[in-house]
Amino acid sequence: MHSVRFLFLPMVLSLLLSGCAQTRETSSTIFAMNTVMELTAYGDSGQQVLDQATERIYQLEHLLSVTDENSDISAINHGEGAWVPVSQETFQLLSLALSYGRETQGALDITAYSAVHAWGFTTGEYRVPGPEELAELAARIDYTQVELDPEGCRVRLPQGMQLDLGSIAKGWASDLLAELAGGEPAIFNLGGNVRTAGDKPDGSPWRIGIQTPEAGSSGYLGVLELTGSQAVITSGGYERYFEEDGQTYWHIMDPDTAAPARSGLTSVTVIGADGTVCDALSTALFVMGPEEAADFWRAHPELGVELILVLEDGTVQITQGLEETFTLSQDRTMEVIAP
Ligand code: ADP
Ligand code: MG
Repeated sequence: MHSVRFLFLPMVLSLLLSGCAQTRETSSTIFAMNTVMELTAYGDSGQQVLDQATERIYQLEHLLSVTDENSDISAINHGEGAWVPVSQETFQLLSLALSYGRETQGALDITAYSAVHAWGFTTGEYRVPGPEELAELAARIDYTQVELDPEGCRVRLPQGMQLDLGSIAKGWASDLLAELAGGEPAIFNLGGNVRTAGDKPDGSPWRIGIQTPEAGSSGYLGVLELTGSQAVITSGGYERYFEEDGQTYWHIMDPDTAAPARSGLTSVTVIGADGTVCDALSTALFVMGPEEAADFWRAHPELGVELILVLEDGTVQITQGLEETFTLSQDRTMEVIAP
């Protein structure tokens, strides 16, 4: 009797497991927006979702790329101070980026692009500009100078200024992809910016690894478990950086100095339902630094986001809402930020 039961249980379990695994999983990897993207969709329409998602990403890249001469962003940057007509999508994202610029008091400033370019982050020809050049560059960073004409769907930028939407585009794209999945479960990883859609078909939570931020290191800092549609967006000094004379310089700029933001943080992960908000904040809070970032989070409960901050000394700080869902996988000090 006993032995029969013991034999029976593993059989039932394996049937259950194979039953779950029957939900088809389709994945593809593409290179777009300067990064590797992994797209996964579940169910019979998975391949269709991925095909549409891929097409959409290339379409957005074509509109938003700062290096594509035919993009809306290039047209704005070469506008010589004149009004430039753009697509509705570009206009919408620009409006959002400017509103987050205001909300973060200029920590997010899309006109930081001249500095990003001068430091060589777009070309790979890295250099450290001198103090005079930095002062000149800083004088050309001011998002309040970007003019929008909603009726004509036009944008005007003063001569000598340049902008880019790299700080927010992938989060926004990830929201559009989640929408496109049409209620089917999917997970999109756009170069470390993760967006889930729906619940995982096997009922388990989405498990998302948060990358170790220290330059040159690899592996996961920890794992986050989530259910439903969420964005997990990280900005860090480890993605695009170079080293010179023992200093590390990265691609997130302090708009006040036109130099890489050195605020005491090595990475900021923002978790929330809106990928665009999370992406905007990941960049802005990185510029602000740990104290200001925690204050911003306390002051804006309406945004519904949670944070994982990694400090320069390796300490991890998480906001209280993540206490149950984030697990460290490295030996580090972890602190909880209370509301
Ligand atoms: P990633 O795109 O690497 O995931 P971010 O979302 O933080 O990282 O965006 C970084 C990009 O945003 C840079 O490549 C640059 O083009 C632009 N950028 C840099 N500093 C700022 C800033 N302070 N505000 C807005 N955009 C910025
Ligand atoms: Mg960002």
